[in-house]
Amino acid sequence: MQQLADDIWQLDGKPKNTVNQYLIGDVLVDAGMAFDSGRIMRELEGRQVSALAITHAHIDHVGSVHAICGKLDIPFWAGESDVKAAESGRMDIRLPLLGMRRLPHAKGHPVDRALREGDEVAGFQVLFTPGHSPGHVSYWRESDRVLICGDVMWGFNPFLMRGPIREPFTAFSTDPRQNRESARRLAAFEPELVLFGHGAPLRDPDRFAAAVAKLPS
Ligand SMILES: [Zn+2]
Repeated sequence: MQQLADDIWQLDGKPKNTVNQYLIGDVLVDAGMAFDSGRIMRELEGRQVSALAITHAHIDHVGSVHAICGKLDIPFWAGESDVKAAESGRMDIRLPLLGMRRLPHAKGHPVDRALREGDEVAGFQVLFTPGHSPGHVSYWRESDRVLICGDVMWGFNPFLMRGPIREPFTAFSTDPRQNRESARRLAAFEPELVLFGHGAPLRDPDRFAAAVAKLPS
């Protein structure tokens, strides 16, 4: 894993930056797909990890939660309004013609702590940033202006592994309009370092702000 700032490491997903996990202090943020559990466990070897927190309960962020929390015997933390999805392993997806449907996608795992706006996680403040999922949360560290934004914005198109900073595909967002409001809220923080669920770390506040400014209302 690669250190990005004090007490912040990015795990080495393959391909790099496509599906991200971060270690902040002793808390793992996000857990990739189910097939990532072996790789994540190897990367965490020799590290003190005391909890697993997610940005949101989608398949590419909770896939390995059950395996990792079980193996490390650590608690699982999730945004309050995503607790149900995290525990049931079902997520909302907008299907052509059928509209929003809740489909099984991952092994559910009991949530030990429901995260709310203003909570503290490893020196970061929890921000409630709903829209991509009902209980999506971001993590903000004011002292050096680091933002873990999850999937409120994507650093690139994860399917092509390139392209500009963008909003997630609207079919994957429960409420795309609400997600844009969350994006505007995050841009107003003027983060110096943005850590995406998908995409490379970004140390360019102007580029982040410009991408958010381009979103439709
Ligand atoms: Zn994602």
